[in-house]
Amino acid sequence: MAQTSIEWTDTTWNPVAGCSIESDGCKFCYAMRMAGRLEAMGVEKYQGLTRKTGGRRKWNGNIRLDWKSLNAPLNWKKPRRVFVNSMSDLFHPAVSAEFVREVWRIMGETPRHTYQILTKRPARMAEVLISTQLPVLANVWLGTSVEDKRVASRLDELRNAPGATRFVSFEPLIGSVAGVSLKNIDWAIVGGESGPGARPMDAFWVDEIESMCRVSGTAFFFKQWGGRNKKTTGRLLNGRTFDEMPATFGAETPT
Ligand code: SF4
Repeated sequence: MAQTSIEWTDTTWNPVAGCSIESDGCKFCYAMRMAGRLEAMGVEKYQGLTRKTGGRRKWNGNIRLDWKSLNAPLNWKKPRRVFVNSMSDLFHPAVSAEFVREVWRIMGETPRHTYQILTKRPARMAEVLISTQLPVLANVWLGTSVEDKRVASRLDELRNAPGATRFVSFEPLIGSVAGVSLKNIDWAIVGGESGPGARPMDAFWVDEIESMCRVSGTAFFFKQWGGRNKKTTGRLLNGRTFDEMPATFGAETPT
């Protein structure tokens, strides 16, 4: 659990560690790099989750369920936006439905917090939530990542998942998603890839998404341009910032 520099949340909560590559958007996964560093530093939770290949650390598919960290949100007295599993994917096939149920229990007991769950496996999210009949919680937002049109079907899978608020993260945006439906999607985040080897994001693709949001009534959040040094490229789009949030959270005016 940590304060975070991620622009659209306040805190990360990581009851799961470890993952495996799912699609092209995972190529430069920040969590994978960070897990490798934490492993090298001797942090117990991250031991044995990555392997070294071609001079880089890559997930080895091992998943660690961190039962000890489950209760952390109970101790946070002030309301927070909580990014669930920034170092993994809650709906990775190796995360049991029983464990998801425990995560749901904690989120249900802490309605003061807003939980943001982002997965690249929304089909499993829908399947687990439906088969276990977990309740729809007003303070839980269900989200999926879409890096380009090849994985646009994730949006349909997300719509199948029972949730009060749904969102999509177009980050890292590595191709146009023009024509993709944002129907019943409350919030869209857009961001370019950052770090060494970052693939470029075309400004036109971003404008396309903003226009799509205006048509579907989806709140639009522009996170960053990315690149090798994201501090230098910033987060202005057409001369301004876009920090809109879902209506369920209280809409914010773009500055
Ligand atoms: S699903 Fe997420 S955490 Fe897992 S490898 Fe891909 S980007 Fe990383």
